[in-house]
Amino acid sequence: MAQIINGKEIAADMRAEISKEAAELKKKDGITPGLAVVLVGEDPASKVYVGMKEKACKEAGFYSAEHKLPAETPEAELLALIEKLNGDDKVHGILVQLPLPKQINEATVLDAISPSKDVDGFHPYNVGRLVTGKPVFQPCTPYGVIKMLERMGVEMEGKEAVVVGRSNIVGKPVALMLLQKNATVTICHSRTKDLKEKVKGADIVIAAVGVPQMVKGDWIKPGAVVIDVGVNRLDTGKLVGDVEFDAASKVASAITPVPGGVGPMTITMLLYNTLEAAKNMAGK
Ligand code: NAP
Repeated sequence: MAQIINGKEIAADMRAEISKEAAELKKKDGITPGLAVVLVGEDPASKVYVGMKEKACKEAGFYSAEHKLPAETPEAELLALIEKLNGDDKVHGILVQLPLPKQINEATVLDAISPSKDVDGFHPYNVGRLVTGKPVFQPCTPYGVIKMLERMGVEMEGKEAVVVGRSNIVGKPVALMLLQKNATVTICHSRTKDLKEKVKGADIVIAAVGVPQMVKGDWIKPGAVVIDVGVNRLDTGKLVGDVEFDAASKVASAITPVPGGVGPMTITMLLYNTLEAAKNMAGK
């Protein structure tokens, strides 16, 4: 049976380290890491995420400022708020919760965030830095995946890594991060032929598809490490990943559960990036 990778535990350890470092930064340099979260509209899932982010900031001893704007907010008004936050010394990280209402162009908004405060890692500057192998801020979910692998002592160098999914928020960045770790990376997507064969060749499988249990247990090479980014709710109300967990866990050497795997890492990495941004400001 595979070792179950406990994302909750890894995230809790990292959060304790982040809180400790934040307290030291405050004591030595008088800087409290600060995160501004901007929410436009009333999307229920977004509201939950924003609430979780705010709570995590408070627990870590960060300054957190939440800006809630009505759904009909014009783009110019949001851009003006971002401009203000770019110049606010208390704010080291800015996060605009996606998706945005349709009158607002997402790319324009992400471009407006100062790259030095872009703790989500979505600004083209930070994307470019990642592509060129000189990352500054890296997107939280994929970065969380890499931190998990590191903390589990999973060797990435020279390994065959297969990423299923090529989204800008998970698949592509995680593939680039694995490449940075000297893995040999294959990126698969909806037009990939023989997906099963590709996955069968992988020492490390990252599933970021959004289709419940589509990566089957018998696709997994014995001893492979499986990271399941997917979060899917079945009609029964049960939360499952993109991997057929029960069957895969009989073959893999280590696997993340859903929930309790990658999920808790995302907000942890947001705190991590915000702390880094505050340290950068302190010249550390
Ligand atoms: P996305 O933007 O919908 O991208 C899904 C990717 O999967 C696409 O590249 C798509 O290929 C590919 N795909 C879809 N069906 C496929 C199939 N049958 N075979 C092979 N590839 C297929 O999704 P995302 O935002 O990356 O999210 C992926 C999953 O991760 C979702 O379940 C999401 O909820 C979860 N997620 C979790 C966290 C977290 O835990 N914190 C954060 C973000 C996302 P094409 O490009 O060809 O369409």
